Amino acid sequence: MVFNDLKDNKVTSGMVEIGRGLKTVSQHMLRPPVTLEYPEVMPDLSKRFHGRLTLLTKSDGSDLCIGCKACARVCPCVDLIQIEMHRDSAKKPVIDRFTIDMGRCIYCGNCTEVCPVDCIKMLNDFELADYSRQALVLDKAGLSLSGEESDRYRQTHGLEAQV
Ligand code: SF4
Ligand code: SF4
Repeated sequence: MVFNDLKDNKVTSGMVEIGRGLKTVSQHMLRPPVTLEYPEVMPDLSKRFHGRLTLLTKSDGSDLCIGCKACARVCPCVDLIQIEMHRDSAKKPVIDRFTIDMGRCIYCGNCTEVCPVDCIKMLNDFELADYSRQALVLDKAGLSLSGEESDRYRQTHGLEAQV
């Protein structure tokens, strides 16, 4: 008798659990999907997303960076940002070398916050995988946006034009 009661209880609780499972599944079937079919569909990322670093240029494509090295000094990863510059006869800064090792970057954004001319910025680009660590060391050409791209970035991020 006691054995039959126990058996009935187990069957009842099993049925209840199956009912709960079916309820959960049917609720989710009616909800819109929360996943994307990446890479066919790209996520709509925030403007403040911390992705690949870039250097904005002036509208005519010339250097905006003044070579102050504030970004390199504030970076918590030693020698991750390397800059070499000199001044021309008119005392204008000329950037000879600007490299960032994206393979060591921790995407803290410190460098973007200290830049006095809003030159170094983070893009929404997160597809940075490559075949070697050396390929992740980006030089000035690899980092710089064109004048047109830089203007577009400034417009979408509410920054002043740089001519
Ligand atoms: S985001 Fe952080 S770790 Fe990366 S380069 Fe800038 S300061 Fe350095
Ligand atoms: S802080 Fe800005 S202006 Fe100064 S070196 Fe870095 S990118 Fe250039």
